[in-house]
Amino acid sequence: MTVFLAITSTDIYVQVAIPVPMRQLFTYKVPAELNTKAITLGERVIVPFGSRQVVAIVLSIDESTEYAAAKIKSVLSRVTDNFSFSPTLLNFIQRCSDYYHHPIGDVFQQALPVLLRQIKQPDVELPQIWLTKTDLSEAEQATTAKRSPKQAELLTMLKQHQGMTWSELLTLGFNKAQLNALEKKQFIYSKPREVAEFKWQEQALLQDNRLALSAEQAIIVATVKEMQSQFSCHLVDGITGSGKTEVYLQAIEQILARSQQVLVLVPEIGLTPQTLSRFEQRFNVPISLHHSGLNDKERLQTWLEAQRGTAAIVIGTRSAIFTPLHDLGLIIVDEEHDASFKQQDSFRYHARDIAILRARQLNIPIILGSATPSFESLQNALSGKYHYHRLRKRAGNASTAKITLIDVAQQQMEHGLSGTLKQAIKNTLARGEQALIFLNRRGYAPAINCQECHWVADCQRCNKPYTLHQGQGLLICHHCGSQKRIPPQCPSCGSVRIKPIGQGTEQLEEKISALFPDYSTVRIDRDSTRKKGALAKLLTEVGNKEHQLLIGTQMLAKGHHFPDVTLVAVLDVDGALFSYDFRAAEHMAQLLVQVSGRAGRASKPGKVMVQSNFPDHPLLQDLVHNGYQHFAKQALIERQQALLPPFSYQALFRAEANYPSYPEKFLRAMTEIPFEGCQFAGPVPAAMEKKAGKFRFHLILQAKSRKQLHQAVFTLIQQSANNEWQSKVRWSIDIDPVDL
Ligand code: ADP
Ligand code: ZN
Ligand code: ZN
Repeated sequence: MTVFLAITSTDIYVQVAIPVPMRQLFTYKVPAELNTKAITLGERVIVPFGSRQVVAIVLSIDESTEYAAAKIKSVLSRVTDNFSFSPTLLNFIQRCSDYYHHPIGDVFQQALPVLLRQIKQPDVELPQIWLTKTDLSEAEQATTAKRSPKQAELLTMLKQHQGMTWSELLTLGFNKAQLNALEKKQFIYSKPREVAEFKWQEQALLQDNRLALSAEQAIIVATVKEMQSQFSCHLVDGITGSGKTEVYLQAIEQILARSQQVLVLVPEIGLTPQTLSRFEQRFNVPISLHHSGLNDKERLQTWLEAQRGTAAIVIGTRSAIFTPLHDLGLIIVDEEHDASFKQQDSFRYHARDIAILRARQLNIPIILGSATPSFESLQNALSGKYHYHRLRKRAGNASTAKITLIDVAQQQMEHGLSGTLKQAIKNTLARGEQALIFLNRRGYAPAINCQECHWVADCQRCNKPYTLHQGQGLLICHHCGSQKRIPPQCPSCGSVRIKPIGQGTEQLEEKISALFPDYSTVRIDRDSTRKKGALAKLLTEVGNKEHQLLIGTQMLAKGHHFPDVTLVAVLDVDGALFSYDFRAAEHMAQLLVQVSGRAGRASKPGKVMVQSNFPDHPLLQDLVHNGYQHFAKQALIERQQALLPPFSYQALFRAEANYPSYPEKFLRAMTEIPFEGCQFAGPVPAAMEKKAGKFRFHLILQAKSRKQLHQAVFTLIQQSANNEWQSKVRWSIDIDPVDL
């Protein structure tokens, strides 16, 4: 068809996706003079839209149109850079839009790097890579080592892995000053990374650093190999330190040997220097990184490298699932249970779920790995839909950390620490080991109040207390982000006795430093790691044993290796035991097991202490005595009896407005028609009923089959146009919601 169109001299028509929240395509004319080289599907074109010009994506090409030709606007120009969507990627994105019932234009918007959505064309150069001078003398290196150990470290790194990009180095904890200093001394130089046409199978593996696999590991690698050219989903369920990463590495090796590419998805924080350096140390291939620390240009470069086939391995967070890959052979989703894979606004996709979709579309294997698999994946594995692999032992001779519960109702508490815990911390420090104290609440205190009249500083837009951030001298609402100075006096009674209530990590750090003045305390949370490279720096310091006491939020629960941490303390788990959210227990168990996994790597045995007011709670007891597996299987039985996911399928309709009656009425109107095999629950006020000044309501649609769910959602969207409250609310759909 394209050929025929190319040789005609008449106008043609295209339907395009435009980055607006509308569930439709828009038709434009392509004047013959613009179509001398035939336009293709997936191409980007610039079109007039209202008073603006926007970049649109061509999704269909037609010879005629049902609209009056005079009314149709023309495409202004075609984007002529070297990126266009391959048919498979185009199809993948369309399927994502269908599955999540999300406007196609917005899905493209989220999938494309910013620079490819702009009218002004970016000038993309190939990324610069850094190398060491070949004739670097021993003497030169020795001087550097003496004067600046960090520069020497950088030099050694570059010597081992010739050709690293600045973003890779940054992720490894180096800074620009170190790089500049070495360049000035002419020890290193940079050049553009070339479009390597090389086949990496011969050079891929760096010599001899592959480990001899255990029997359990070997079976997984062999099974994946057997299924290399077909879709298969593998769940690797193994405790922290059981050798999952080693399995990934050897599975990747097989794919690289076929000159195919690998996509590795990691949680936001899992993209640690350690992860990258393990890949760097194993393979002699270009690795591209894709994470929120990159700027727009770097992100585009990752894309283009992947598409050209220059990058052999792409490691990235959630949105890396949309990376175009020249010849993708394997997808790995590490820590597949992690909440960061689900996008929680606008296009609410789950990167793990669409990764499976993508693997299926490409007929390639996908590996999901976790120490605490999500109930969804676990159920699919238990039912035989996925290949289920377990790694039961820690690799080497490291033993598993033992969890003990501390009954805090029976004890005197000091700054949130029981006497038992304080003693355990003391003993750990005395042995020269490190302790990690986990508190999932950042800031100084979760609220401030007046000691006289009990006034509490609430965010007016959310009806929730402000969190005190003492260091910044601010009250910050963790729900809408609004900020306020700390009032010197109570606005209600004028008293100056305003005090923090409760404790966050910032305060804990202060109190712990005071309790253990002879040791160094470090806090790792979103606040202390805001600056680029800050997390890497803190982790390096911890690794060098510059700090003995580590305080952190769930950021610290994930993926990091702390070989000298032998005590992990969890200050408070009670919130999850009595939650309205049916997933709270699952998430609490995952967090607890993940934090526990930080303790006692290497050969030193680890200990985990969990403080609770309800140490006899059956959920805690089951988890501690029988482990996550048993706990999860029990919980799955309960979910099945209650017909909750994964034994049913849900869509969540969210609506919000300035008045509470509108969203409620809008959602209630939706429930008027029944759907076969489906039930409505709600509308009910959201858990955060008011947020950023808007009143919010939820309606859940639950179905026995996905098909019934999708049909009902489809119909509800069609009918929403006739809903009389439609224009008064903002509403959205969340398929497979995880956060109610
Ligand atoms: P996970 O990813 O499950 O946390 P890793 O793959 O990081 O586990 O393995 C934990 C530790 O055990 C690492 O130091 C790794 O080098 C080592 N290890 C993994 N597999 C083996 C093996 N087959 N033989 C010896 N050591 C191993
Ligand atoms: Zn007061
Ligand atoms: Zn607020």
